[in-house]
Amino acid sequence: MDSMTFVLFGATGDLAKRKIYPALFNLYLNQKLPKSFSVIGVGREQLSDVELRSRVTDSLYTFSRHLINDKSKKEEFIKKFQYCQLDVTNTEGYKKLLEHVQQNEKDHNIAENRMFYLSVAPEFFEVIALNIKKSGLGSTDGWKRLIIEKPFGHDLKSAQELNEKLSKSFEEEEIYRIDHYLGKPMVQNLEALTFANPVLQSLWNNRFIANVQITASEIVGVEERAGYYDKAGAIRDMVQNHMLQLVMMTSMHLPKQISESGIRNEKRKVMKSLRTLNRDTVGVHVVRGQYGPGEINEKFVPSYREEPGVEASSQTDTFIAARLWIDNSFWDGVPFYIRTGKRMMEKETKIVIEFKNPLKDSYTSEMEKVKPNLLTININPNEGVSLQLNSKNPTNGEMEPIKVDFAASKQDVPEAYELLLFDALYGDSTFFAHWDEVELSWRWVEPILEAFKENRVPLHSYSAGSMGPDAAHQLLEEDGFKWW
Ligand code: NAD
Repeated sequence: MDSMTFVLFGATGDLAKRKIYPALFNLYLNQKLPKSFSVIGVGREQLSDVELRSRVTDSLYTFSRHLINDKSKKEEFIKKFQYCQLDVTNTEGYKKLLEHVQQNEKDHNIAENRMFYLSVAPEFFEVIALNIKKSGLGSTDGWKRLIIEKPFGHDLKSAQELNEKLSKSFEEEEIYRIDHYLGKPMVQNLEALTFANPVLQSLWNNRFIANVQITASEIVGVEERAGYYDKAGAIRDMVQNHMLQLVMMTSMHLPKQISESGIRNEKRKVMKSLRTLNRDTVGVHVVRGQYGPGEINEKFVPSYREEPGVEASSQTDTFIAARLWIDNSFWDGVPFYIRTGKRMMEKETKIVIEFKNPLKDSYTSEMEKVKPNLLTININPNEGVSLQLNSKNPTNGEMEPIKVDFAASKQDVPEAYELLLFDALYGDSTFFAHWDEVELSWRWVEPILEAFKENRVPLHSYSAGSMGPDAAHQLLEEDGFKWW
C-alpha cells in the first residue's frame, strides 16, 4: 500500500492525544506508514490546521515512546495533519468532509484508501458509520476500513443492535474492533510461545496443566470515569472483552493453518466450549467486590462509594474473580481463574500456568520443598516470560525453586496501539475482536449481569491496596490452589 487517508473522528480527544498520535508518529519514525498519507482530524471544536498540529506536537512531546531527537522528522510528520470541523450528528456536514478528503487525495496523489477511526463516545458510532455511507465517503476505488474502540454495546442486545447498524455501512472484514489487550506484545507473543515451541505445545493440555490464572490488577481507582464506569463495572469494562480475550488467546489450539481465519476459528471454538453459567452456578463460580477505603503507597484513598460521581449506595463491581471451565478434550478438568480489579495492591497483567506434579507421591521427605512448575507470562507493565523449575542449590544441597527469565527492554517494546494500527493499515485483523467473539462473550457474561442486577451474588468489600476480597482467595482454596 503506497497511500491512504486516515480520518480521525475525535481528533481533539484524550485517546487521540495519549495513544493515537504517538502511535502514528512511532510508526512513521520506523518507516511503517505508507509513503504518502494524510491525517484528517475531525472534531466539534473550531480549530485551524496550525492549532491541530500544535496539539499533536504537544502530544508527541508528552507521550511518544521515541524521543524527538530529529525535529525535522517531527515537522515532516505534523505537516500531514489537517483539521475539519464537523458535528458528527449533522448529516449535511459530511459533504464538506468528503470534499476535503477528495481534494486532499487529488492534491497529494493519494489513492482512495480510507481509514476511519472513531475515537468518540460509542453513542456516535452508528450515526458516523451511517453518514460515511450516505455522504459517499465510503464509496472508494480503494479500500475503506473502520476502527472502533470499546465499549461495544452494554449487553448482548445492544451489542447486536450496534453490529446490525454498523454492518449496513461496513462489511465485517472492514471493521476493526480494538481490544488493546490484543495489541500487547506479550499477548501477541502467546501464539509464538505455544505454537513455535514443541516443548510447550506438547504440555498445553489437561494432562500436564493443573490450572491457569489470569490477573489484570490496577492500582488506580475510578478516576474521572465514574459516569461510564458506575454503569459498566469490572464485568463490562474488563471481563466481557479483555479477560475473555486473554482466556481465548491462552487456551486456543494450534490451527491447521496459522492464519487470520485459522486463529479466529480456534478462538470461536474456545468460546463455544466455555461452560455456560446459570442462576444456580453464577454464585458458585463468580466473586464480585467493591473497594472500600485503604492505603496505597502509604497514602490513604477513599472507598469507591466516596469517589466523585459515584452514588453512596452504588452496587457496582470494581473487582471480579471467576472460575471458568472449557469443556473440550484439551481442557476438561482444568480450571481457568480470572481476576481483575481497581485499587489493588499492584498494577499487573499476567498469565500463570501451573503445571501438575505427577511425581509428588514418589518424593522423599527432603523433597517436600518442591514447588509446582510455573510458566508466567508478564504482559504489563513489564513484558517477559519466566519458568519456575526446581533445582538443588549447589552450595547447600537444598531443593529450591529457580527461575529461568526473559524480560524485554522497556524502551524497545512498541505500544499496543502501534502494533494494532499497523495491522489495521495493512488489513490484518488477527489481533482484533471479531463480531463472533464479541457476541459469544456477551452471551457468556449475560447470566452474570442478570445475577448482579437481581443481587443474587454477594458484593464483597475489599480494602483498597489489597488483592481483592477473601472470597476470591477461597475460590481457589476450594480447589486446593492459591493465586500466584
Ligand atoms: P474525549 O471525550 O476525550 O474525546 C471525544 C472527542 O469526540 C473529542 O474530540 C470531541 O470533539 C469529539 N466529539 C464529541 N462530540 C462530538 C460531536 N457531536 N461531533 C464531533 N465530534 C464530537 O473521549 P476519549 O477519552 O478520547 O474517548 C474516545 C473513545 O475511546 C470513547 O469511545 C472511549 O470509550 C474510548 N476509549 C478511550 C480510552 C482513553 O484512554 N481515553 C481508552 C479506551 C477506550
